[in-house]
Amino acid sequence: MARPRIVALPGDGIGPEIMAAARELLERLGDFEIEERPIGGASIDAHGTALTDETLAACRRADAVLLAAVGGPKWDTTDPDAPRPEQGLLGLRKGLGLFANLRPVRPPRALLDGSPLRRERIEGTDLLVVRELTGGIYFGERGREDARAFDTCVYSVEEIERIAEVAFRFARRKVTSVDKANVLETSRLWRETVTRAAEGRDVELEHLLVDNAAMQLVSRPAEFDVILTENMFGDILSDEAAMLTGSIGMLPSASVGDSGPGLFEPVHGSAPDIAGTGRANPLAMFGSVAMMLRYGLGRQEEAAAVESAVDRALEAGLRTRDLGGEAGTEDATKAVLANL
Ligand code: NAD
Repeated sequence: MARPRIVALPGDGIGPEIMAAARELLERLGDFEIEERPIGGASIDAHGTALTDETLAACRRADAVLLAAVGGPKWDTTDPDAPRPEQGLLGLRKGLGLFANLRPVRPPRALLDGSPLRRERIEGTDLLVVRELTGGIYFGERGREDARAFDTCVYSVEEIERIAEVAFRFARRKVTSVDKANVLETSRLWRETVTRAAEGRDVELEHLLVDNAAMQLVSRPAEFDVILTENMFGDILSDEAAMLTGSIGMLPSASVGDSGPGLFEPVHGSAPDIAGTGRANPLAMFGSVAMMLRYGLGRQEEAAAVESAVDRALEAGLRTRDLGGEAGTEDATKAVLANL
């Protein structure tokens, strides 16, 4: 890829502050064409809608989309007809056909003692949760009749095949497929389809029931490589796995589709309580840049360089407020750039 085109969406709250830090990092890394556009509340203020057609079109043309965060009290409303910042995110996911959510969990060595797990349990953990994002019980038929309510879980072979493909693409040694095949018919179809998708590949496949997977995640997290699962199980397991690292200010994520650009963003929100104070931790944003380089632009070496610069800065003592220290956004950015 000659000169990757990135659409940068700073959004609201601390978003513009951590996006500025990410742009400094990208500038240092190489030659990227970056087009910045408003999304969320900032776009509502400027254009009356959280995502304009022009911004979506620009994202479609890009090689990758980097987003900071959207939302804030200014746009909180009970009026169902008023635009809401998170519509920007949903519109982007739908408009780019993003059906796979990726969340890596790799606690930096320097923060191992901040994990709720004992050091010897968490040490060596480096896993990726691949969650199906557009099917399952969250999107099935639902309703209420008198004193009853129901939600329906539906998956097609095609939906399972395409998410399995993503999991196998990113696995280094093993895919752990998580389901509830002892009870659910969708899970039995899931298991059959994933087993077929694994044929002829150089990657081990294991199946775990979701209750067992929840237990194994906290008892032997270092054993996992890629965890592949459906929408609701993935929603729960990815938050459980995220807690293994300790702080919300550290977690990146990505959403990808079959083709076209992926969306890379920190897990945390716009942190309106600290916006404008220069105290936002930019490390989840830097992790999102690393994911964009690795999974979105195929630049493995630069991705590893960013991750190891973050690790080394932490090992040298960098701690933002959310990690119990005093460093602000600018200090943290300087510390990481100095280790790049
Ligand atoms: P939040 O993640 O914004 O903040 C939760 C707490 O974590 C706050 O105390 C905040 O100060 C702290 N925090 C978060 N990120 C931090 C960082 N990088 N450095 C230091 N501290 C950090 O969640 P919230 O308060 O529930 O939501 C605030 C707004 O963000 C809401 O409008 C919500 O809708 C929105 N939100 C957006 C996204 C997104 O853009 N993907 C995700 C979650 C929430």
